[in-house]
Amino acid sequence: MTTTHNTPVETRRAPTREKILEVKDLRVHYKTPGGDVIAVNGISFHLYKGETLGLVGESGCGKSTATAGILRLVQPPGRIVGGQVLLNGTDLVQLDEQELRKLRWTEASLIPQGAMNSLNPVLKVSDQIADGILAHEPKISKAQLKERILELLNMVGLPGRTYDLFPHELSGGMKQRVCIAMGIALGPSLVIADEPTSALDVVVQRVVAQTLLDVKDKLGVSMILIGHDMGLQAQLVDRIAVMYAGNIVEIAPVKSIFEEPLHPYTQLLINSIPSIKERKPLKVTEGLTHDLRTPPPGCIFQFRCPEVMEQCRQVVPPLRELRPEHFVACHLYE
Ligand code: SF4
Repeated sequence: MTTTHNTPVETRRAPTREKILEVKDLRVHYKTPGGDVIAVNGISFHLYKGETLGLVGESGCGKSTATAGILRLVQPPGRIVGGQVLLNGTDLVQLDEQELRKLRWTEASLIPQGAMNSLNPVLKVSDQIADGILAHEPKISKAQLKERILELLNMVGLPGRTYDLFPHELSGGMKQRVCIAMGIALGPSLVIADEPTSALDVVVQRVVAQTLLDVKDKLGVSMILIGHDMGLQAQLVDRIAVMYAGNIVEIAPVKSIFEEPLHPYTQLLINSIPSIKERKPLKVTEGLTHDLRTPPPGCIFQFRCPEVMEQCRQVVPPLRELRPEHFVACHLYE
């Protein structure tokens, strides 16, 4: 496999088999005058303790909405219409707002998409990190707070002087690391990073990616890493879940999915990774996604699939385990 990121990010500690997150049949819809847009169509997967799971797919496939659903951050006109999100055994879908507030940042946190722009321009880095800590630990002393923030900055590879800087004094990569420090400030067991490196150049991407993995290993957190860059994902995650039009169509260990992708959409995604070793025309996934308000009967990928068969137009292929931990939703493997 060749990618635009040709130096592998350092490998890390293997995850355990203990499940910390179980997502079961999660459904998120957006209300529109023309009917509900089905953004997340009953996805199910789990995450092991210490594992990094990549959630990949093209723009609009529902990756960010799925994470918003997991963390109960879906805003109207969106709503969760069904499913369970079990984090350490607690179903987040059933919690009220007060219970959720206690759990956010302490049990689960989000490094949002475009995190670099999510910093408050008129607050120093220290004040922004302190904000989340004080919300959960109001009795912490000033000295302890400062020590904790300096420790966090050090953990994400930022110098101590960053404490007194404003966001405009930081580079893109530094801002992103501040966001990582905020995400881990209260030691959550789950961190969801939504395209955390997409706005950075390739070299800085690698540095920030390595920071994420180092922090994950040090703290033993589990991570969901959302992205569309299959090459970068290949170096960062333990397993990959491929999403298409609100559905998970394949999920497997990273080695297995790159060596033998089974779903035609995954194959197209992998074939679209540019190579620096050989010049070849980039593969394009032909066609358009169907109207998400009216999914077709049968397979969700039928209008763009080069292998479509008659059966695909009538019967929904279930997500089945073809090999250990390698699941695919496609009639080709029946
Ligand atoms: Fe293609 Fe049919 Fe498989 Fe869907 S079920 S991905 S249409 S071959």
